[in-house]
Amino acid sequence: MKKLAMLFMIMVLAAFTSKAALAGDTLADAKKKGVLVVGCKDSLPPFGYIDEKTRKIVGYDIDFVNAIAKKMGVKVELKPVTSASRMPQLQEGHIDIIAATMTKNAERAKVIDFSHTYFFTGQKFITKKGSVKSLKDLEGKRIGTAKGSTSEQNAKKAIPTATILSFDDYPQALLALEQGKVQAVTTDESILIGILDKAPDKSKYEIPNIQISDEPYGLGMRKGDKNLVDFVNKTILDMEKSGEAAKIFNKWFSQYNLHRSFKITADK
Ligand code: GLU
Repeated sequence: MKKLAMLFMIMVLAAFTSKAALAGDTLADAKKKGVLVVGCKDSLPPFGYIDEKTRKIVGYDIDFVNAIAKKMGVKVELKPVTSASRMPQLQEGHIDIIAATMTKNAERAKVIDFSHTYFFTGQKFITKKGSVKSLKDLEGKRIGTAKGSTSEQNAKKAIPTATILSFDDYPQALLALEQGKVQAVTTDESILIGILDKAPDKSKYEIPNIQISDEPYGLGMRKGDKNLVDFVNKTILDMEKSGEAAKIFNKWFSQYNLHRSFKITADK
């Protein structure tokens, strides 16, 4: 019995230490290494995409992590992730922070920690012009989206009779729409605007005014990585105060005539 109790104690201790090691102190580690490794999107303008001239990943998400890294006094290393790979990449320690069009929700917050909301949008659809006036028009249709996204889950709930086809990322879903393999693409409006704008045949498509969810974005960090979470939150609140956050918004969204309908505030 004594042996068993000892074994149990060791197991509990091991569980605690491995959990602590997992969360660690990314802020201190990044400062020591001089680099913050960021998981970002690389094909979703204007959040994270490859600039044609410089061949570098740029965008709204990238400007936020650049500002955070600058305040930390470290460089940024960008690693492309998909909606499905971003949480495992973070948990396995391949990236330090997620800045990848990621919605904060209770299910995800069980696994990782989020910053205060730094962007706000809602889920809509891209369809052929004039083909969809209400959700009813999408019943029984094939709809493209990305694996591991809230868009996938929301679409299944909003239109249970539709067939949801999940791709690695949204540009592939748009290609499927152009090829007639799906009748709509669904995700956050701000992403739809960005990918549609880059499509060669964009005049054939539209984003009807049908919204099925609210999508507040957060920067994702390892669960319990408190020093980094606090640092990131303080930085983005300061960016709101100084006007830098609004400036970044306008830099990327004024081209689409999108107005800023939110402010970065502390989560309640
Ligand atoms: N914001 C949604 C999500 O986090 C959709 C965009 C994405 O897949 O990154 O799932």
